[in-house]
Amino acid sequence: MMQIIKNKNEISRIVGKLKKEGKKIGLVPTMGALHEGHLSLIKRCKEECDITIISIFVNPVQFGPNEDFARYPRDFERDREMASQEEVDIIFYPEPGEMYGDRHLTYVNVEKMEKIMCGKFRPGHFKGVCTVVLKLFNIIIPDNAYFGMKDFQQLAILKKMVSDLDINIQIVGCETVREPDGLALSSRNAYLNQEERKNANILFQAINLAESEVRQGRSVKTARISAVKMLKECSFVKKIDYFDIRDPVELKALKNPGKQNMKILIASAIWFGKTRLIDNKVVEMSQNQS
Ligand code: AMP
Repeated sequence: MMQIIKNKNEISRIVGKLKKEGKKIGLVPTMGALHEGHLSLIKRCKEECDITIISIFVNPVQFGPNEDFARYPRDFERDREMASQEEVDIIFYPEPGEMYGDRHLTYVNVEKMEKIMCGKFRPGHFKGVCTVVLKLFNIIIPDNAYFGMKDFQQLAILKKMVSDLDINIQIVGCETVREPDGLALSSRNAYLNQEERKNANILFQAINLAESEVRQGRSVKTARISAVKMLKECSFVKKIDYFDIRDPVELKALKNPGKQNMKILIASAIWFGKTRLIDNKVVEMSQNQS
């Protein structure tokens, strides 16, 4: 039977008991509005762990004052049903007051990496993400925690956080799940109207174009220009927050890829109508590309 726990002391106690029994604990943090992307993380967790816990918490601290916290999609009954289908063991579903007391003053900041890419346009966002994830880690103390590559910067920052702060939890990055036309699954895709939805895969197409250009030996600058041009030609694209080519570990800007077997990250965020879409791809340059 799947358990739904709202209280942090209670979940700590239950997990502590399971650990004493020698169970390997996996955690999948989410903000709910579950879709196949989340389910792929849950499936991976179930493969690798004895107990699968998902958290559902729309974390107020990671939303800016003008962002979509209030209208973020929430449907706990649907999420509960989907989690139960996947045979999740425990849903941790705290209220904001349970996670943050009246006078919360402590935050986690991964410097430099939180200022670039999405962080440049969403100040404080990654501080909110790191803080809530570290709190979840401290409450649950899982062995493994599962995150999607869809939010690549988040994954890279969290890996850095556990490494820098000596947190003994394995961060597992999972491939992005896409619609058949290439659009990355996201809870925010629900904001798109029909016409927008039909055209929204332009972001993935632009990333693929940049990939093919660097694979053909063009410079990062040229690849970027081609991709940005493609995005600008689409009338639904209202703004390009960034289109960056970076190293996938510390997210440093790359001048030129092309060393043997070097991996590069191509990542972008755009405003598609009133919806902000993000996507990325990690490309492994093969030996015969220079
Ligand atoms: P969210 O509920 O949007 O905070 O996402 C919870 C987790 O699911 C994060 O680790 C996301 O990276 C991951 N996720 C979201 N969309 C996808 C997707 N399309 N493919 C794989 N993982 C995803």
